Amino acid sequence: MSGGVRKSVQDLHPYVPGEQPNAADVLKLNTNENPYPPSPRVFEAIGECGPDSLRKYPHPTAAPLCAAIAKLHGLSVEQVLVGNGSDELLALCTRAFLENDGRIGYMEPSYSLYPILSDIADVRKIDFPLEADFTWKVPNTLDVDFFFLTRPNAPTSLSLPLEDVRELCRRVAGVVLVDEAYADFADDDAVALLKEFDNLLISRTFSKSYSLAGVRLGYVLGAPALVAALYKIKDSYNTDVFAQRIGKAAVEDQAWMKSSTTAIRGTRTAVTRELAARGYTVRPSQANFVFARPPQGDAERIFMGLRDAKVFIRYFPGPLTGAYLRITIGTDDEMTRFFKVLDSLSA
Ligand code: PMP
Repeated sequence: MSGGVRKSVQDLHPYVPGEQPNAADVLKLNTNENPYPPSPRVFEAIGECGPDSLRKYPHPTAAPLCAAIAKLHGLSVEQVLVGNGSDELLALCTRAFLENDGRIGYMEPSYSLYPILSDIADVRKIDFPLEADFTWKVPNTLDVDFFFLTRPNAPTSLSLPLEDVRELCRRVAGVVLVDEAYADFADDDAVALLKEFDNLLISRTFSKSYSLAGVRLGYVLGAPALVAALYKIKDSYNTDVFAQRIGKAAVEDQAWMKSSTTAIRGTRTAVTRELAARGYTVRPSQANFVFARPPQGDAERIFMGLRDAKVFIRYFPGPLTGAYLRITIGTDDEMTRFFKVLDSLSA
């Protein structure tokens, strides 16, 4: 302790979210938001929140929402916990599943919040590097108590075989959390594996496929014993009345969510083709963004040039990622504007 602030907090480099510019003419392809609106049922649910629902505390466990999520995945309600964005649930895991000298593992690069959560929890972090082509081999030795597996991965957009998830669950003595923030844009997910492994958790978010990033809602699925541990330590009222009702309305309109993800997948195919035609190396995306290397590898220059034209994408400096750009998939019209600006930079 010095100056009253805990040492691990003094030394902490906090998470830096993608920019949220306010200007109306900005094209935001930088934080993997969904370009389409949420289900109209969401707005009906907001309208139904009368004075009583605001005056009273919300349901502490969001039971009606958890029941809807359990039904969607064919699980029991004891296997579901909702939280204030999946970020909150990832943080809860670092508090529930690690002793003070515990070790957290994750692929590198993957979601940059994991090392920060490890630092906040003051536990050890071990990164397991991706290959040069961004694929990943499950290491033989995994001396960790908890593993964050991002599938599909960010920022690379790649998935990995379900058999590798199984292998990881076998090799990690502690808990494996598969972060499925982007699973609704992928060809498969790991939910069926919950029947095979009692050390597996899966996290999902409403921020991407349900177009609800502003609401802050996510959930975890898993064995009742693991989920019960998270219930023990969560805040009493970790989701508010709006989030609970909005989430339930969104989950119960799967047709809306699927039409949005189908549209995004279609645009993703077109964007991949267009980038390849311009000489870009594009990783085969399973998410709502693509990860692409310009032919000259001058990713930072292109990122800055797009930014000057008010087109925001994401650039991650570093030896493995520094030649690549991460581009969120927008509407077809938005991607037409993106390519127009992109082409003007190389003209
Ligand atoms: N996991 C991954 C891999 C992500 O990219 C994100 C979004 N930044 C999250 C989790 C967080 O999602 P949420 O908005 O639910 O906190």
